[in-house]
Amino acid sequence: MASSAPLIDSFGRRVDYVRVSVTDRCNLRCTYCMSEEMTFLPRKDLLTLEELELVCAAFIRRGVRHLRLTGGEPLMRRGIMELVNGLSRHLESRALDELTLTTNGVRLPEFAGPLAAAGVRRVNVSLDSLDRATFARIARNDCLDQVLAGIEAARDAGLKVKINTVALKRDNHGELPELIRWAHGKGMDITLIETMPLGVVDEDRTDQFLSLTDVRRELESFWTLTDLAERSGGPARYVRVAETGGRLGLITPLTHNFCDNCRRVRLTCTGTLYMCLGQDSSVDLRHVLRGAPDDAGRDAALDTALDRAMQLKPKAHDFMLPVRGARPAVARHMSMTGG
Ligand code: SAM
Ligand code: SF4
Repeated sequence: MASSAPLIDSFGRRVDYVRVSVTDRCNLRCTYCMSEEMTFLPRKDLLTLEELELVCAAFIRRGVRHLRLTGGEPLMRRGIMELVNGLSRHLESRALDELTLTTNGVRLPEFAGPLAAAGVRRVNVSLDSLDRATFARIARNDCLDQVLAGIEAARDAGLKVKINTVALKRDNHGELPELIRWAHGKGMDITLIETMPLGVVDEDRTDQFLSLTDVRRELESFWTLTDLAERSGGPARYVRVAETGGRLGLITPLTHNFCDNCRRVRLTCTGTLYMCLGQDSSVDLRHVLRGAPDDAGRDAALDTALDRAMQLKPKAHDFMLPVRGARPAVARHMSMTGG
């Protein structure tokens, strides 16, 4: 019999949120995320859409209430709507509270309507600049217009959009207040993210790293920021900007520790379950899925693997502030683990 016991780690934290990377591929090449020339995984290593759905169902049986599909670029996975439609059945049965997506927005004009029809209510869209040339430099692709059209398509389809912006010392530092004003002007939350040392990229991360503690101080020189109590079960802390009336999230993995209340785990597109973005402890669920003799055996083996995973969830990550020329703290790219 498949278990329905909640997933509780050895520090008593209940895991009810899973980020699922559905592909490591992407139509962009953001400088902080990928190298210009990336070698992507062979297709045979990826979980099939059916396998992804099975693992998600196992998590849902064990009390996971929030699923976020990510990547790579989730809307680049062929057949992605089959997975979304399959998972939306758990929304209808109310076993799942929320199915969301983190996307670069380029393909949202095509997908916003179908996503909304499947019961998706919110999407996070990454946008690091409103200036066409700056956007093109960061993403190594000149497609700001598509992303802006994608954001409008999502809003038109009734999806709530949150903007994610990676704070970059050279590329968008001076533009951050304008981005915040723009998002808040449209009634959207925006979250700033510090660059994290994940995977080798072409640039030196010390050149890109911008402390959000410093950004906050700068914003406070002309805006009134009030801390808000709400948390997302994740790393963001939120403030209200009095002058714009909007909510601003700050993700500061390097300068603050946010691990005490962590409820998340992350599944890669190859079926490796990572208990923490910033640590290497993992469990191979693809092996479990493909090794089982039948459906019942597979579900039992998945349960055992999830229980083992809970014992491996670390108390905290061990990111360090970037040191010039140093290897990244974690070798895998964000596009592999799923941001
Ligand atoms: N392609 C989608 C997108 O860009 O939204 C989803 C995947 S992307 C890996 C998820 C988020 O991770 C994006 O907001 C991106 O900006 C962020 N990200 C990628 N690499 C990062 C890094 N090294 N440090 C901090 N954030 C990173
Ligand atoms: Fe692609 Fe997202 Fe990484 Fe940019 S951040 S390269 S859009 S996966």
